[in-house]
Amino acid sequence: MKIIFLGAPGAGKGTQADRTALRLGIPTISTGAIIRAALANGTEMGQKAKQFIERGALVPDDVVIGIIRERLAESDCKDGFILDGFPRTVPQAIALDAMGVKLDAVLSIEVSDEEILGRMTGRRVCAKCGTSYHIATLPAKDGVHCDKCGTELTVRADDAPEVVKSRLEVYHSTTEPLKDYYAKVGNLRLVDGIGTVDEISERTLKALGV
Ligand code: AMP
Repeated sequence: MKIIFLGAPGAGKGTQADRTALRLGIPTISTGAIIRAALANGTEMGQKAKQFIERGALVPDDVVIGIIRERLAESDCKDGFILDGFPRTVPQAIALDAMGVKLDAVLSIEVSDEEILGRMTGRRVCAKCGTSYHIATLPAKDGVHCDKCGTELTVRADDAPEVVKSRLEVYHSTTEPLKDYYAKVGNLRLVDGIGTVDEISERTLKALGV
């Protein structure tokens, strides 16, 4: 299956994308995680993206479209994939169509801005493998290290309250119009993102019909 997860920053799309991918045996491709890894490794792409990420702005379309084009060409994507955080603009969605990707579903995890602002302070992330945690709702087993790779968890620089506000504005002005874009094609499904991680996973799988 080829699936897109849409949702505001902090809606839980990364967590649900990872769980769904595990269940379906396909990879999750998170442009945010790829960019953060490039930043941590000091690559040229990471250097280019730094100024945008830090102020909660979007990285230019040509950079993320290039990342996706390369990643989708890898062999583990041949039976399907989940895109988490891409596309985020209408031109990115058009570029994905132009790559010949036929989507099975586009899921939008729906959470209000008030709920998101409350959630973001508790988010922790593994800078090495990209796994997300939350101190209250999805803690790591020992509270401080990634369950998957043992790396010490960090707070994302772009989870500071002022930056989250900018990211929410960008989401509403630039990314949310994608809901209309995919509703017109007929594969948009809305998932209520309020509840426990297990409840939302259940709704997600139901929305996918698996
Ligand atoms: P995320 O982990 O998906 O919240 O992404 C973190 C940050 O990476 C975003 O705030 C953007 O600066 C950048 N980013 C990730 N995906 C994209 C995308 N598809 N288009 C533009 N910027 C992106």
